[in-house]
Amino acid sequence: MKNVCPKCGRSPVEWQANCGEGVQKEGVWYCCAGCAEGTDCTCATSAENKGVTAYELGSSGR
Ligand SMILES: [Zn+2]
Ligand SMILES: [Zn+2]
Repeated sequence: MKNVCPKCGRSPVEWQANCGEGVQKEGVWYCCAGCAEGTDCTCATSAENKGVTAYELGSSGR
């Protein structure tokens, strides 16, 4: 039974890694390898990339 990610608190339905299964390390499930390794969670970036609006950032001046 998976709980929320102990590092970032993301619920399993939001996990991106391993087809939404998450990553297990030492018997604990994490949302992604980033959290499992103690680095940045990559789930947020993955979600953002789906609806990317990067052109807004780079829009040239008026
Ligand atoms: Zn996490
Ligand atoms: Zn994550």
